Amino acid sequence: MVFKELEIQGFKSFPDKVKIRFDEGVTGVVGPNGSGKSNLSDAVRWVLGETSSRQLRAAGKMEDVIFGGTRRRGAMGFAMVRLTLDNSAHTLDIDADEAVIGRKYYRSGESEYTINGQLCRLKDIYELLLDTGIGRDGYSVIGQGRIAEIVAAKSSERREIFEEACGIAKYRYRKNEAERRLAAAAENLERLRDILDELE
Ligand code: ATP
Repeated sequence: MVFKELEIQGFKSFPDKVKIRFDEGVTGVVGPNGSGKSNLSDAVRWVLGETSSRQLRAAGKMEDVIFGGTRRRGAMGFAMVRLTLDNSAHTLDIDADEAVIGRKYYRSGESEYTINGQLCRLKDIYELLLDTGIGRDGYSVIGQGRIAEIVAAKSSERREIFEEACGIAKYRYRKNEAERRLAAAAENLERLRDILDELE
């Protein structure tokens, strides 16, 4: 999956709108300590659906991803990230050559998710990216300390990583979803039977 552009506004140390184009080949980000290099990969992780503030190196609540202000500049009221993916090979299940995934979070706690400008749920982004390796549970953004975590992980957790890499995580997810719906339908049937018994 090729990244084409990352757009950030109000996210961590980036109050102003910043657009980064990814050209062909490898992109390196260089800068002094504390200049925001890792914040860029956090932005990628966040827009791809990361919900754990720990994984985003935030202090404990999602609000901490919003630019918190400096001595010279006031805090922002929201954080916004958009990531443009090349979909010319139509790997993703959408009828477009590009997929623009967007996420916005307001200090009030309100969230917005978009795919190609259309409002959607976080679940839609999760499902779109399943088995591409770049989703929330993907293995392509390796944070500091992640390798040690993988080595120390339980075998069931490590298995999940391999399943995502092999492209079968999607089927496990769908199976779980189907089982959840089946259980809900069985429960509804049970309620219906109770009502029928009362009527008879
Ligand atoms: P290093 O090379 O040391 O790993 P880095 O270039 O990767 O550094 P980051 O860790 O990406 O730097 O950025 C750290 C900076 O981001 C710190 O100065 C921190 O104050 C700032 N920062 C993080 N969250 C916010 C926020 N919500 N609002 C404002 N600034 C923030």
